[in-house]
Amino acid sequence: MTGAGPRAYDGDEPPGIATMANQVRILTKYCKGCELCVAACPKGVLEMSDELTEAGLRPARPKAGAECSGCTLCYQVCPDAAIEIWETADA
Ligand code: SF4
Ligand code: SF4
Repeated sequence: MTGAGPRAYDGDEPPGIATMANQVRILTKYCKGCELCVAACPKGVLEMSDELTEAGLRPARPKAGAECSGCTLCYQVCPDAAIEIWETADA
């Protein structure tokens, strides 16, 4: 058979996928401390910081050691686009 159709899965892991993890980052410059993301996270990854931003607000932050699933719910509820979710290969 010839052509360039989809290749059948042959049992090997695609390169890198087994080591991929997710990382959530709060852009504190834009965070207004509304806590919506903390309530939205089903994994309990986020909490409010004790430290104030330059604007005098308590921003959200990821808890140390918490594992983000990459579900994006926090990103979806944030009214200020203050959340980034990254796939990382070194977690
Ligand atoms: S992406 Fe999902 S699991 Fe990760 S911090 Fe946001 S809501 Fe929580
Ligand atoms: S939802 Fe957005 S603005 Fe509200 S606390 Fe979370 S990161 Fe900050």
